[in-house]
Amino acid sequence: MTSQIKKPPTSWPLIILFIIIIISVIIFGAIYYNYEKDTLLLEKQQELSSISDLKIRQITQWRFERLADGTFLGSNTLMVNKMLEYLNNTKDIPTRDAILQSLVLLIENFDYHNIILTDLNGDAKLSFPFQDTLIGDHLRPLLPEIARNRQVVLTDLHLSNYVSFVHMDLIIPLIDRNKDDLVVGGFLVLRIDPQKVLYPLIQSWPAPSRSAETLIVRKEGDAVVYLNKLRHIKNNDMILKKPLSMEKLPAAMAFKGIRGTIDGRDYRNVPVVASMKKIPGTQWYMVAKMDRDEIFSVLESQMKLVITILVLFISTIGLFLGFLMWNQRVRFYRGRYEDELNQLALFKHFDYILKFANDIILLFDKDLNIVEVNDRALEVYMYKRDELIGMNLSKIQAPATVTELPGQIELVDEVGSSTYETLHMRKDKSVFPVEISSRAVNIEGSKYYQNIGRDITERKHAEATLRESELRFRKIFEESPFPMFIAGKDLGIIRTNAAFCRMTGYDEEELKFHTFNDLTYSENGEDDQVSLMRLIAEDIPVFHTEKRYIRKDGSVILGSVTISIIRNNKDEAQFFLGMVEDITLRREAEAALEKSFSLIKATLESTEDGFLVVDLSGNIVQFNQRYTEMWRIPREILETGKDEKALHYVKDQLINPGGFIDSVMRLYSEPEAITSDLLEFKDGRYFERYSQPQKINDLSVGRVWSFRDITEKKKAESELIAAKVKAEESDRLKTAFLHNVSHEIRTPMNAIIGFSSLLNEPDLKEADRQLFTEIISQSSNQLLSIINDIVDIANIESEQVKVNMLTTDLNSSLKSLREQFIYKERQNKIPVNLSLGLPDAQAIIITDNTKLIQVLSNLINNSIKFTREGQIDFGYILNGNFLEFFVRDTGIGIPEESIGKIFERFYQVDRTTSRQFGGTGLGLSICRAYVRLLGGSISVTSEPGKGTTFVFTIQYLQAS
Ligand code: ADP
Repeated sequence: MTSQIKKPPTSWPLIILFIIIIISVIIFGAIYYNYEKDTLLLEKQQELSSISDLKIRQITQWRFERLADGTFLGSNTLMVNKMLEYLNNTKDIPTRDAILQSLVLLIENFDYHNIILTDLNGDAKLSFPFQDTLIGDHLRPLLPEIARNRQVVLTDLHLSNYVSFVHMDLIIPLIDRNKDDLVVGGFLVLRIDPQKVLYPLIQSWPAPSRSAETLIVRKEGDAVVYLNKLRHIKNNDMILKKPLSMEKLPAAMAFKGIRGTIDGRDYRNVPVVASMKKIPGTQWYMVAKMDRDEIFSVLESQMKLVITILVLFISTIGLFLGFLMWNQRVRFYRGRYEDELNQLALFKHFDYILKFANDIILLFDKDLNIVEVNDRALEVYMYKRDELIGMNLSKIQAPATVTELPGQIELVDEVGSSTYETLHMRKDKSVFPVEISSRAVNIEGSKYYQNIGRDITERKHAEATLRESELRFRKIFEESPFPMFIAGKDLGIIRTNAAFCRMTGYDEEELKFHTFNDLTYSENGEDDQVSLMRLIAEDIPVFHTEKRYIRKDGSVILGSVTISIIRNNKDEAQFFLGMVEDITLRREAEAALEKSFSLIKATLESTEDGFLVVDLSGNIVQFNQRYTEMWRIPREILETGKDEKALHYVKDQLINPGGFIDSVMRLYSEPEAITSDLLEFKDGRYFERYSQPQKINDLSVGRVWSFRDITEKKKAESELIAAKVKAEESDRLKTAFLHNVSHEIRTPMNAIIGFSSLLNEPDLKEADRQLFTEIISQSSNQLLSIINDIVDIANIESEQVKVNMLTTDLNSSLKSLREQFIYKERQNKIPVNLSLGLPDAQAIIITDNTKLIQVLSNLINNSIKFTREGQIDFGYILNGNFLEFFVRDTGIGIPEESIGKIFERFYQVDRTTSRQFGGTGLGLSICRAYVRLLGGSISVTSEPGKGTTFVFTIQYLQAS
């Protein structure tokens, strides 16, 4: 392919626009320039005209003044007469001097070069200063005329043979006024040097200029004479003359009546602007002129500025348009560049496709000769490039399909393109299926064909595999032992397998008239529509439900169905595939199992024992409520499923936790072991623990632990033992008591009997008799006391004792009691002190005084009995609502182990028969019983060897 390098389009509109702008600007510039030029020239001409006018006025004024000078002098009769006088007599020196004096004054006061006094012939008779004293040939011919007219005359500028410089003369006729005919007697000639006043007047210029000048000219024959000094050339002697015929010469033009020109050429032949004016009263013309160059210099600098601006303007426009064009070109080239890039990319792309295309690309001519191939073709057909190029297409066609080739080409010719499958052959003669997309292409007028081929061996293989697998799946479907059906989206049955037919009792053709819903119902009447919609929407992968199926014979079975979606290639839901499982029997079995399980569960929950079932790995399988209660273990711990965790939680409740966990863990490796032991808890509980393997089909699968709380049983046992011990003790006490009582009774009885019999002795002395009587009396009292005690205790035990609450004067009762011990006090040398806790007035109380005194009496007697030295104190204090009584001694005290027992019946610290102190062991138990009856309690504190204190309380009921 050749790339056409196109030029960027020429921006003609821009160029034309630019040219138009340039031309417009130039035309405008030219017009403007011309206009400005003309305006300027005219302005200058006018300016020159004004300056001419000014100068003409000045010159006229100056001339007028000169003539006035002349008239004034001529009319000065005195001076004129003097001069005439002198002319008549030139020898008259005084007159001459007087005249000279006047002349000096004139020269000094007026601006004249010199003054000459002439006679009528024009011969100078007197002059001042004394130079140029002659009248030249120019003036002399004028004099007769002046004498005739008697008029003052100012001559033109002239040169004369005697006067060397250009000058003018003011000629004053000297009129002799003494004569009637006013004869002119001479002339006074005042010579004027124009250099002094006139020329400067002419030459002066109101504004600085390098070329402007005014000049005066006069016509002499065919020439123009320049009268004054000129600016640009020397003309002191009126030597410059120019012919009148010079058309452009402003001076010449003046004489032709032209008053101004902007296109003149002056005496130097330099272009000038000029204004020409006649000077009145003279033959002179005034020419005021200025070089065009100078005039234009202003215009030129203006024009330069304008041109610079215009050039800048054009440049800017040019730049702008240039930029637009450049931009256009850049865009054009960029576009071109991008096109080129795209083309390049396209080439590369085609190249890439050709090189790496997975398809075979063949280009062949109308004779079926291959003209171009890609790499893939070489690879597939296994030919080298130069082998394949030029080869006829029929060579790569499998022999069996060569005959199809003309038909295929014909079809392409007719339709333009065609796609078909055929068989091709590699170099090694192996044949492979190929899918060809053939197209006719026209390359530079010649017809070619392009074949794009794809090796479809794998596809064919896949199709075959698919067919096979389809077959296999159909077989699986049809022969599956699971009932299966395919239904449309309306659940209308389309296909069923044999198992489904067996399950429902219908054959497949019959089922095709049913929908799935006809055949089934839900026990709870639930609607599957939503779930099926979700299934279609891919919200759920499958839909699982249980249904009752009505069989053809009317019987009902329970089936579990799993419905999934069959989608087409476009992923659209097409069919439902249902797989049913008859779960009637399973459900029945489950129900039976559930029933037996609930039975077991109920049994387990109702039992008093705790149960725990664990598997062989020590995971908790089951436990009952009783177990959690017995072990005081939260369900959360059990629900973690680890027995070991539970064991850790409970172990600290045990008295001996050591080895508790290990022993259980060991059992997991001995699945057959049966164990039983007793667990003892810190809180006093006892559990009987029993474990045995859980077996399924004679195989251990776990272990069942049962726990029985036998605390009560244990308690009963220990109570029984305690009771037995107690009974034995009681028995022993009783024996001791009897033994004791018999001793305690026998001793005073023996004394009574023995001493009573001695009383009968005739020779008994009085002193002995008294002693014996005393002993008998004491023994009787002792005996009585013992009997009283026995009676009291008997009454107490049979609850026969009554409390007799009466108003009692406590203080006086206690004082009487104290007095009862005075005798013993003296005998033993141990003081018995009483202290009262209330003033007498408040000590009137309500109580059973007899019992109170008996308690105190018992306690004091005990103290006396067990005290050998020291003292005994008793009394009471008020403690709240109670009266607190005390009996304190410094006796032998009570050993610690006996303290808790001394209030029991028959108890005595020293039970030996050889003991020092008598007694029955009943006193304190009677005291306790009486104190309780009086609404109080009794206690003892004691230190062996130091003493004992009994304290008891009774209610403080003050008698009102
Ligand atoms: P007894 O008739 O033997 O004195 P009690 O019941 O009065 O019987 O006393 C029981 C036992 O308590 C006494 O045998 C004695 O061992 C002890 N006991 C009682 N009171 C005192 C005490 N004050 N000091 C020492 N031991 C005492």
